[in-house]
Amino acid sequence: MARRIPEPFRIKMVETIRQTTAEDRRQALQQAGWNPFLLKAEDVYIDLLTDSGTGAMSDRQWAGLMMGDEAYAGSRNFHHLADTVREVFGYAHTIPTHQGRGAEQILFPELVKRCRGQRPVFLSNYHFDTTKAHVELAGARAVNALTPQALDTGTAYDWKGDFDLPRLREIVAAEGDNVAAVIITITCNSAGGQPVSMGNIRAVSELARAHGIPVVIDAARFAENAWFIRQRDPAYAGASIASIVREMFDCGDMFTMSAKKDGLVNIGGLCCFKDDEALFRAVQVNCVPMEGFVTYGGLAGRDMEALAIGLKEGLDDAFLSYRIGQVAYLGERLREGGVPIQTPTGGHAVFVDARLLLPHIPAEQFPAHALACELYLEGGVRAVEIGSLLLGRNPQTGKQEPSPFELMRLTIPRRVYTNDHMDYIADCLIEVKKRAGAVRGLTFEYEPPILRHFMARLRPV
Ligand SMILES: *Cc1c(COP(=O)(O)O)cnc(C)c1O
Repeated sequence: MARRIPEPFRIKMVETIRQTTAEDRRQALQQAGWNPFLLKAEDVYIDLLTDSGTGAMSDRQWAGLMMGDEAYAGSRNFHHLADTVREVFGYAHTIPTHQGRGAEQILFPELVKRCRGQRPVFLSNYHFDTTKAHVELAGARAVNALTPQALDTGTAYDWKGDFDLPRLREIVAAEGDNVAAVIITITCNSAGGQPVSMGNIRAVSELARAHGIPVVIDAARFAENAWFIRQRDPAYAGASIASIVREMFDCGDMFTMSAKKDGLVNIGGLCCFKDDEALFRAVQVNCVPMEGFVTYGGLAGRDMEALAIGLKEGLDDAFLSYRIGQVAYLGERLREGGVPIQTPTGGHAVFVDARLLLPHIPAEQFPAHALACELYLEGGVRAVEIGSLLLGRNPQTGKQEPSPFELMRLTIPRRVYTNDHMDYIADCLIEVKKRAGAVRGLTFEYEPPILRHFMARLRPV
């Protein structure tokens, strides 16, 4: 086994977490309608629901909070943030937003307005769930063109986040003027936190530019993607993370970012433009009624300060090696224990293949969700389903969309849990694997019409 990378920090403040009994957990899950989203966080021992906004800020970021300039307009923290965006990404125009979806909701309607075709469509390696929702709310369609290698979880491939280029070319040719934008999601969350190669980013960007299609980077895990490029692409072996980030963003025209991931803050987002001033102005107009005035976008001055600091801390080599190394360690423990996972392990999470672990549970009974419930019952660990439940129904036909994956995501918050926690999680899941045949599927008691996985109530069949 590879040597573990120790945490490159020491702990200055602690927060108590509480283990519960098996009976406590059975009651809590029952009350939550067999949906871990509806659990009280206090009933969770190790919370791997998401890496979004769940990270620990550094002492420097906490100090930054005290430097908040809460002016309604033109706060100095906004200028620090915009300067940092210029330095890290090379983008001239910054709009802060309350989180990633805030950026999506003010940008996508403008891209739809600019689209020349009658049936606007957004093309992505894989649309994140809120991204797909905002594309559809803007009156457009969301189509994915992900490399087929991503679907084979058992076989290692370095770039499972890549676009399927031949497929993308076909769609662009068939849709013509309908293509409102291409969205490059780095890393590709839904495929298992898998990186997109620099070659693929460049090729997608060139194809889009040749057709006059704007390129949006969905940048939540930009630093992790850059780290993977350096690790896996020999052409970048000696490059700095900062230079790889610049090269990736040179391929885009604008980006939306959930700063709650690699931005290392608990709340925040960004919508930034390389040089398209007209589009920037139009999106600013949307920002005011939806997010807030253009120099705060739903954030306090102190939040913007913490983000300006976090964007740069997130590029640190020692941090990224430990971060991705910790996730890889959990993946390795599970693989040794015979638990089928997306291979290689992703940047922010380990994705367990529930289709392989629970082959007796059909897609319409949500095997990965059933697995997440079982893991909670076993050890108070909260995970999340990325599969049929998340994907939902086709808005036109009302039929369940066929999901390419039935994955359970163990998402690791940044700088929060130690490697001992990773061992505990692995031990719990290996225990669940031993009784996999007895795990039952789930059916709806209440199914919300949109983004149903958040509020759904279920019961075992
Ligand atoms: C989290 C995320 C979003 C949405 O951001 P929020 O901050 O949760 O609103 C969009 N795209 C990707 C890839 C994400 O991971």
